[in-house]
Amino acid sequence: MNPKNAHGVSEFDFLRDHQKYYMQKLPPAIDTHAHLDELPDPEAAIQEAQKGAVLGIVAVGQDIRSNQKTLEIASQHPGFVFPAVGYHPWRLDADHDEETFAYIDTNLKHCVALGEVGLDYKAKTKKKVQKAIFRELLAIAKKHDKPVIVHCRYVHETAFRMVKEAGLAKAIFHWYSGPLDLIPVIAGDGYYMSATPALLYNPYHAAAIRAVPLSNLLLETDAPVQYQELAARPVHVQVTLKEVAGVKGVSVEEIAAQTTQNAKACFGLGDIEPGHIG
Ligand SMILES: [Zn+2]
Repeated sequence: MNPKNAHGVSEFDFLRDHQKYYMQKLPPAIDTHAHLDELPDPEAAIQEAQKGAVLGIVAVGQDIRSNQKTLEIASQHPGFVFPAVGYHPWRLDADHDEETFAYIDTNLKHCVALGEVGLDYKAKTKKKVQKAIFRELLAIAKKHDKPVIVHCRYVHETAFRMVKEAGLAKAIFHWYSGPLDLIPVIAGDGYYMSATPALLYNPYHAAAIRAVPLSNLLLETDAPVQYQELAARPVHVQVTLKEVAGVKGVSVEEIAAQTTQNAKACFGLGDIEPGHIG
């Protein structure tokens, strides 16, 4: 009923501690990266987010099925869930490349961004193939003048260079844990980097986020990723907010205000108001 985990802390106690973050009336924030289609109960998670002072959610897709589901969920929550369609490097399937490009090209006009896409040199698809697909997707983002949400692992410089070569005005390097010396270069081009609840335990992510200028920072959860004991839902963007404030030594109010302004500018969200909070 109340099992102890490896640290001898019950799941319940751990989650209750995290509940405190949003019980503390933290200022509202935007979750700029969640896989709503993968949550066991997306509707419950959306309602919880609205009650937990989440201003909005950017919901990302990974393949045609996931994109369809993401668009469907977003259509039921206009002004709160903002969809992105993508083709995740873990989901590449040579039999469906062309179909997926066509799907994204057709549906991108209904979205705030193209994503999640990128390069992952631990994924099964060959590096050369991944790069060709990523290049194609970046061209679609450029054609529609949309920001691109980039996943990259062990290949940050290449991913950054490809985004820049594609001539994209806006990009988000999500869950940034890449080289520290690349951060000022990415920021210098006006691109964004986002923080996740991995700040709770990951010193590399914390060092990176400490180095990201506030003007180029976004908050996210990557829900439903499991961060040690925390199975993330969009409401846990409050955990990210609190941890970012701690890492940077800046107030939660300032972090929330600046990252919300950044998210609105990046995704063109216009005036979303905390009126959604139930
Ligand atoms: Zn993701």
